[in-house]
Amino acid sequence: MKTKFVAGLVAALLSAAASPSHALDGVPVIDPSAIDRTVSPCDNFYQFACGNWINKNPIPPDRGRWTRFDVLTELNLEKLRAILETAAAGADPATRKIGDFYASCMDEAAIEAKGLEPLAAELARIDAIAGPADLAALIAHEHENGVRAFFSFRSTEDNADATKVIAEVDQGGLGLPDRDYYLRLDTASAELRRKYHDHVANMFELLGEHPKVADTHADLVLAMEIELARASLDRVKRRDPKNLDHKLSRAELTALAPRFSWDDYFAAAGQGGIDSLNVSWPDFFKGFDGVLVGYEIPVLKIYLRWHLVNRMAPWLPKAFVAERFAFQGRVLTGAQEDRPRWKRCVQQINWMMGEDLGRAYVSAAFPPQTKDDTLAMIRAIEAAFAEHIADLDWMTPETKAKALAKLSVIANKVGYPDKWRDYSALEIVRDDALGNALRADTFEFHRRLAKIGKPVDRSEWSIPPPTVNAYYNPRTNDINFPAGILQPPFYDPKLDAAANYGAIGSVMGHEMTHGFDDQGRKYDGNGNLRDWWTGADAAAFEQRAACLVNQYGNFTAVGDLKVNGRLTLGENIADLGGVHLAYAALEKALNGRAPPPIDGLSAPQRFFVAYAQAWCGNATDQEKRRRVLTDPHSPNEFRVNGVVTNAPAFSRAFACPAGAPMAPLPEQACRVWQQARDR
Ligand SMILES: [Zn+2]
Repeated sequence: MKTKFVAGLVAALLSAAASPSHALDGVPVIDPSAIDRTVSPCDNFYQFACGNWINKNPIPPDRGRWTRFDVLTELNLEKLRAILETAAAGADPATRKIGDFYASCMDEAAIEAKGLEPLAAELARIDAIAGPADLAALIAHEHENGVRAFFSFRSTEDNADATKVIAEVDQGGLGLPDRDYYLRLDTASAELRRKYHDHVANMFELLGEHPKVADTHADLVLAMEIELARASLDRVKRRDPKNLDHKLSRAELTALAPRFSWDDYFAAAGQGGIDSLNVSWPDFFKGFDGVLVGYEIPVLKIYLRWHLVNRMAPWLPKAFVAERFAFQGRVLTGAQEDRPRWKRCVQQINWMMGEDLGRAYVSAAFPPQTKDDTLAMIRAIEAAFAEHIADLDWMTPETKAKALAKLSVIANKVGYPDKWRDYSALEIVRDDALGNALRADTFEFHRRLAKIGKPVDRSEWSIPPPTVNAYYNPRTNDINFPAGILQPPFYDPKLDAAANYGAIGSVMGHEMTHGFDDQGRKYDGNGNLRDWWTGADAAAFEQRAACLVNQYGNFTAVGDLKVNGRLTLGENIADLGGVHLAYAALEKALNGRAPPPIDGLSAPQRFFVAYAQAWCGNATDQEKRRRVLTDPHSPNEFRVNGVVTNAPAFSRAFACPAGAPMAPLPEQACRVWQQARDR
């Protein structure tokens, strides 16, 4: 459970408006030409800060969403491409592996010529299932391959003692992005299910099935997935870590799903010795057992074939790639065309061998001075947080002391890991794209499981250094800022403190605040799921959080779909906290000075414009809909307007009249971790 700054980056469709040969322009932290001065900042700050950018930057055809943030991701992809192309030329043994991986991915002619042959052995293994023991072993093998068959199996920190790594099984097995896609009764959801059904059938046809057979098989897949969805816990309930905390013995797990041969599963996964584990949501495994009762092995094989081909489609011939895009891209996100091949390959390698690629990226693109300077900013923001906590008017000294203790032991990680992951056991073959993907997934599956029974390694990172994102992990109580995000429009060493605190400073405060949001507050500083709050303080927190649930729940995301105030609560608390903390740190840095305006903006105004402009963006209706159902972050417009309406410093910066849309009366503003005198 990591709380990332931007969700869905793995799946995000990453592509540029410009053709690859024309590098994108850089994205300055503050772009005065993006501002729409026909709008008052006090009426609609997002429109003020972003209006011109929004008008001038339509969504490229290969994307569902396009933001200034995404432009940075694109620029990074170009840097990574250059690294991978040099690596593929093969002169340097240190980058040979990522170079061969990239070359295999880019060789579409070879992939086309091989057809389905690279998948034949995998399909044959499914065909060969003869009984429950084979089924369990095969599912373990699919999990090695990164295939989302029925449930997931991984390692995790022990909730009761976060210094230890234990095994965990969790719900899974769905082909659509969320359980709600299967269960919602509205017509748009029914239409999506119909299109999903047709997509599954089309994939079966590509595997050689007769259209009528493929259609029936798609019916069965959908029926099984609906059963799994019914047994799954929804995203809002999953926000409460207590709902996912069920450490059971192996016998207790077996009792939940007695028809599944867990012994064969664990043995095949190389973890035959497991005697206890966390079963995130036990009811799901009862539902899984129901599926095993309801469907015979030949039908389960159909489901497994679908998930195998769904996972492997990016590495298969063009027809599979196109069919995958037609649903995952066009239907789910509203994109008109697929990303260029090289971007998909760069992205895959970043996720599969990200620390080898990241090592090359860091040496090319991350100056050591940036690490020192941004660490100093984090410390300044941490100090501001400590002052905010000490000043809170709703929390008792007893809980404050515990909050401060937790804050003081957050590990600040910047740029890249201290020790790099060792991929020497991973075999990469230059002309074997699909084989490389299978081996990379298998390597990663076992790398994670190998941690079971060992102490937690807090130096590890869960996203690679080139990634434009950041995260907080409540189990390891650390905040992580990869090199990829420490550049414009988030950080620019040439700029003033106001711009940098507004942009990356708000991200730093955001991640820190996650340690104290509706989810993070349930863990102590050691990462244990342990209640350190007095009852009265917890109630006071919930009351303040409810203000945000209500406020964001009234924002309209698209059509008649409102923002889900409960799903987005943690991110909204973090956004609000991030801006307040970074602003307090800026005030400290300025120490009463008022620097001369730049481009007509005072330092406080630059702070807020820098914050807002990272979020300037456009999105298709499909993408907005997908995000409301799955993304714990609010839509960009409300990440800006929701925050500033709760920030008195914003009203002061722009001299907004009390009662203006962005400057509600103080008693209407929500505050959680903000000190009383800020009101
Ligand atoms: Zn976040």
